[in-house]
Amino acid sequence: MLKVKGSGEMSLMNCKRCGRLMVQQRRSDCCESCRLYYDESYREIRRCLHSQPHLTAYDVHKETGIPLSVVLELVRS
Ligand SMILES: [Zn+2]
Repeated sequence: MLKVKGSGEMSLMNCKRCGRLMVQQRRSDCCESCRLYYDESYREIRRCLHSQPHLTAYDVHKETGIPLSVVLELVRS
């Protein structure tokens, strides 16, 4: 991990999802656009599971078009 000289506590990291260089966030290891993407996906998954509670992660992936890895990640948490 890189430390930015002269900028106090700020350190840089690569976004876990897209690899973009970003300022490290305390509560997230994704950049802002990925976080928005996750938020949106999460809402979509919730909506999908609300109307069809018996769907598996794979079904949700097929219903919503959200990548299976993302569905699994969001459903688990
Ligand atoms: Zn990102």
